[in-house]
Amino acid sequence: MKTIPYGRQDITDEDIQAVAETLKSDFLTQGPKILEFEENFAEYAGAKHAVAVSNGTAALHLAAMALSVKSGDKVITTPITFVASANGFRYCGAEIAFCDIDPETFLIDLDKLEKMLSSVPAGTYSGVVPVDFAGYPVHAEKLRKIADKYGLWIVEDACHAPGGWFIDDSGEKNICGNGKYSDITVFSFHPVKHIATGEGGALTTNNSELYRKLNLYRTHGITKNHELLEQNDGRWYYEMQELGYNYRITDFQATLGIQQLKRLDWSLKRRNEIANRYNNAFADVKKIKTPFTGENIFHAYHLYVIQTDNRKGLYDYLHAANILAQVHYVPCHLMPYYKQFGWKRGDMPIAENYYDHCLSLPMYPTLTNEEQNYVIEKIRNFVK
Ligand SMILES: *Cc1c(COP(=O)(O)O)cnc(C)c1O
Repeated sequence: MKTIPYGRQDITDEDIQAVAETLKSDFLTQGPKILEFEENFAEYAGAKHAVAVSNGTAALHLAAMALSVKSGDKVITTPITFVASANGFRYCGAEIAFCDIDPETFLIDLDKLEKMLSSVPAGTYSGVVPVDFAGYPVHAEKLRKIADKYGLWIVEDACHAPGGWFIDDSGEKNICGNGKYSDITVFSFHPVKHIATGEGGALTTNNSELYRKLNLYRTHGITKNHELLEQNDGRWYYEMQELGYNYRITDFQATLGIQQLKRLDWSLKRRNEIANRYNNAFADVKKIKTPFTGENIFHAYHLYVIQTDNRKGLYDYLHAANILAQVHYVPCHLMPYYKQFGWKRGDMPIAENYYDHCLSLPMYPTLTNEEQNYVIEKIRNFVK
């Protein structure tokens, strides 16, 4: 059996053809494909605006900048995420406060969050960064109520969940990134994610002022928009009005994104089929706890995470069989960088217990049934 990774991109001949055409066009970057990708992505997510950028981490940093996060601001996130969810706000000098996870969904625990907020003076925290972990959409409506009560902004890290949705109290379907409850939602197009552009990312928002700032900060803080200029020396004239970055995506990456987005629904369907096959295969296996699937949500299944007692043993056994299962994630608060701020083992007991038992099994749309059967057989063999 060839090596089976935990996640993998799917690039078709048509994708390659489309990218090749852009490579032969007049624009390699800052051309028409970026806007087309942004429009398609905004439409898919049901948001007013999308901004495509160089990667998901840049997207998080831009979100922090657009929300004027500054040194000393306190920002809350979950410890069970990729470090970038916290780092994007650290870049602006924010202090990161971790809030423990829900033992079933592995998402930030909204009851604990509310306790955290109600036990300190109003205004202590400025924002919250929920993560749609593994593809499970956060209940952004409940979160919005809490955020409004305590005056927080919300940046939803939906890098795991493009196309995921939950049904809100009014019965409406909310696709991650639709901007109804979160101020800004952030996505990544790294090859292990649903849409691959090499490196790449995007932000969605319904707020036109945030949209303006995201565009400005993505390109050095430079504008050529005549209505916004302080003066105008001629048609060449532009102004750098703020300190921004070069966080642009290229046109040929945007072309790949346009192509990949067309197959997102297929990818989500396949991922759900794969999850169901795992669920059925492990239904009678006591030593394997399969992921929780709540009602009124559509899981995007970036990851399929099981919990098991002998995680290290299973990891080593699967790797010896060429199955590259992975651990997501080493808790962020236990990273040496974050430990220097005083975080330590024992601070986030649910997250730490999760980390001690979690293992991500292969999950990507081109995983064949035969390959999946091989993974299942090996796991059943190990735990029996
Ligand atoms: C992948 C990922 C990111 C960062 O995305 P990059 O495109 O790799 O910079 C941020 N948050 C989460 C939860 C991710 O999985």
